[in-house]
Amino acid sequence: MEFIKNIFCVGRNYVAHAKELNNAVPTSPFLFSKPTHAIAEANGAELILPGDRGPVHYEIEVVIRMGQDYKKGITVDEIVDGMSLGIDFTLRDVQSDLKEKRYPWLLAKGFPNSALLTKFIDFPGEEACKQTNFSLLKNGTQVQIGNITNLLFNLQTIIDFTGKHFGLGKGDIIFTGTPEGVGPVQDGDTLALRWGEATLGESIVKLVKES
Ligand code: ZN
Repeated sequence: MEFIKNIFCVGRNYVAHAKELNNAVPTSPFLFSKPTHAIAEANGAELILPGDRGPVHYEIEVVIRMGQDYKKGITVDEIVDGMSLGIDFTLRDVQSDLKEKRYPWLLAKGFPNSALLTKFIDFPGEEACKQTNFSLLKNGTQVQIGNITNLLFNLQTIIDFTGKHFGLGKGDIIFTGTPEGVGPVQDGDTLALRWGEATLGESIVKLVKES
């Protein structure tokens, strides 16, 4: 996999997903980040995830990669040079506890292998992207389907917000948010990440207890 510098993730960027977790719909983009140690490739092999910290939820998302450094006025189609599908794995009970304490989400979102990525494909442009649905199949059954047409904050808004507040450069990637239908994985589950009819990556879940 190509060198990845920073991993940004947009939370609550599809209204139906914000509502399924009883969260308020944000009025400005809401971001968090993951360590690069979280990166794993959906290459058909086993994917080790925590088996002793409550449910691990899948969240399939469109991931965009920056091909150059951000500057004010740059467009999505100029700055983005690749895309993939990712799963923002989330320890849901840990996250609920952190939310209650008003702590950051790192423990729930930043563990090793929590940023699963398929291979990157050329970015076809934002408008072309809207012609294709992305979906997640768990053991052959579709559990999530989405389209970036339904993003609460579109790609340009996310890029401008990230560039302004955090800096955004070549090699940075952004997980753009998950549609509704999130749920837990079980040991042995097969996950297939699909762009239209094409499977871009697959993984087999291996839940491992550490303690
Ligand atoms: Zn997410």
